[in-house]
Amino acid sequence: MSNEQGNIFGTTSAKCPNCAANIFYNEKAGKLICNMCGGLFDPESLKPLGKIEVRDTAAAGEEEENKQEFICDSCGAAVVTDYNTAATFCAFCGSATLIKKRLSTCFRPDLIIPFKISKEEAIENYLKWAKTQKGIPKKFLSESVLEKITGYYTPFWLLDADCSAEVGGKGQIFHDDVVENYFIDRTLEYKVRRVPFDGCRKISNTLMEAIEPFDYSELRDYNDMYLPGFFAQRYDLSAIDMMDLIKIRLDNYATGIVKHFSAKEYDVFKAVSAEGSYSENFKQVYALMPVWFLNIEYEGSTYGIAVNGQTGKASGSLPINKKKVHMHALASVIKDVLLFIAITVIAAALVVAAVIAITPDEVPDMAYVIVFLLFWLTVTISGLIFFVPFIKRKFVDKSFYESVTIDKAPNLEEYVDLKGSIKMENRDMFLYVGSKDADANDKKFEKGPLSERVLRSIFK
Ligand SMILES: [Zn+2]
Ligand SMILES: [Zn+2]
Repeated sequence: MSNEQGNIFGTTSAKCPNCAANIFYNEKAGKLICNMCGGLFDPESLKPLGKIEVRDTAAAGEEEENKQEFICDSCGAAVVTDYNTAATFCAFCGSATLIKKRLSTCFRPDLIIPFKISKEEAIENYLKWAKTQKGIPKKFLSESVLEKITGYYTPFWLLDADCSAEVGGKGQIFHDDVVENYFIDRTLEYKVRRVPFDGCRKISNTLMEAIEPFDYSELRDYNDMYLPGFFAQRYDLSAIDMMDLIKIRLDNYATGIVKHFSAKEYDVFKAVSAEGSYSENFKQVYALMPVWFLNIEYEGSTYGIAVNGQTGKASGSLPINKKKVHMHALASVIKDVLLFIAITVIAAALVVAAVIAITPDEVPDMAYVIVFLLFWLTVTISGLIFFVPFIKRKFVDKSFYESVTIDKAPNLEEYVDLKGSIKMENRDMFLYVGSKDADANDKKFEKGPLSERVLRSIFK
């Protein structure tokens, strides 16, 4: 979304049609948002596009007699416990200086999923997961460190919405020797149900997505009796503070749905964009989810690990030993360099062989050596123009993929009912018939082994 569009409305000019408070344009959501009443509006027509419930995080509620709150003196994290459960250290920063207070702000969630996984099971699951990752520092496998993992009931907003989006892309159908190419153009209407967004600033959203999904069949009405022995967190982010995250996730579902349905129609489908998307009829419930959580300090940075307290799924964003990762990447790059040299030497040798065959016998051997060297240098230097960027990219890619440990959010099947409630208008257009060979060659060129790509670059 361009800045100009944001500027049309300025920062104070537009008023909420519902409550007359100032409304602001949220670039990432592509909507005007009223922070007072939670109204969402189309920036051009001011047409209402739904409402997000606003729960004021700072509003004072009734004092809750049976609960207390511990605030971490060093990082500000706050935990809620019942009166008989004391917090002794902060799992976010490790500090033992916690200030006890009476709980004086509204806490009561709508729903809860009780803990099912014990601390021992959580550590065991985490270790099982961590050992599948290469090059993790020892500290992240140490019993005495993991001992501090803490069970938090973590605040989540479970979001329902009716969504629509325009999805564009490219589809291909393969026949024996030709490929039909299509332009994909669809309008989608779909409903998402109970997509979870964690409402705690101190816990990373990607980390929470990595330990999804939760089994909603075990959601219960919130009751204080689940609290003793555990810690709970109060939300400090309302759904309205997360409109950008919500928008990104819902748009991903739109392309995911088209991908799901077009899998039967096309052999290859590539989504390019989900445009003009909007969501309305937002509904949300505030639920506490069981999460085992620990922050670990390492070389000046903080890394979070988490285990789903209901399903036991473990994940974390851990530091990978950079030296090990780089050695790995270097080894594969060296292999490619050797291959490249071998290919150019063979090519030059073939040329010399051809030259020998067509020249008279009295030519001195030295001349062949010079032809060989000249040809080899020419091929090598021109090949390098393609080869060096390939090598660089490969090294960077390999280093990057091996240094990421976090898992992705679950598939859309989890939150979109793919059997019902989806309306899809299909305006796909036939583009042209291409040759399969050309297409396959293109693909190999994009994706094939490096040696092949280099050969193609040189001898094309
Ligand atoms: Zn309003
Ligand atoms: Zn702390």
